[in-house]
Amino acid sequence: MPNNHYPFELPALGYSYDALEPFFDEPTMKIHHAKHHQAYIDKLNAALEGENKLQGKSPEEILMDLKAVPENIRTAVKNHGGGHANHSLFWPLLKKGVGIDGEIESVLKARFGTLDKFKEELSQAALGLFGSGWAWLVVNKKRELEITTTPNQDSPLTEGKKPILGIDVWEHAYYLKYQNKRADYITAFFEVINWDQVNQNFLAAK
Ligand code: MN
Repeated sequence: MPNNHYPFELPALGYSYDALEPFFDEPTMKIHHAKHHQAYIDKLNAALEGENKLQGKSPEEILMDLKAVPENIRTAVKNHGGGHANHSLFWPLLKKGVGIDGEIESVLKARFGTLDKFKEELSQAALGLFGSGWAWLVVNKKRELEITTTPNQDSPLTEGKKPILGIDVWEHAYYLKYQNKRADYITAFFEVINWDQVNQNFLAAK
């Protein structure tokens, strides 16, 4: 396990870079994990240099209380701490060939009517997001499932929401394979959701 406090380290993917082919291609996965995610970690570590109080916290704890971060580094911590936390959540959410099962299946049906309706709503949120950001399934403060989006690398944790599933809609997540066709990337995302992990995240969040 990598450090969950300063200095932060890149978590292992847990699978090979080509494991999600042909939906998510190997070159994209490699650059996304080894370069983009690593860069967020490096910049987060740089921002937190000398910040003794914050160094003992996990990225999630920091993001839940951004007001405790000194103003001169708050934007850097929001961006790069969010980048680190969002990607750390994202990688384990990806796996081919996992059907939906468990409590998450029944709660999604209860909340959205059908799984197709849920898929449609999350897709629309991801497609409609202007610029870079994330579309999420979260457990909100009322302990309900909610679809939401955040710009840039903002984390739902900062709004008091617990993310249990997220789709990265930064172009770096899809441009090599899908270019401007974000809709095709979103369709592919639904083929590689690790529903066992989503269920675990839901059980931990509720
Ligand atoms: Mn990304």
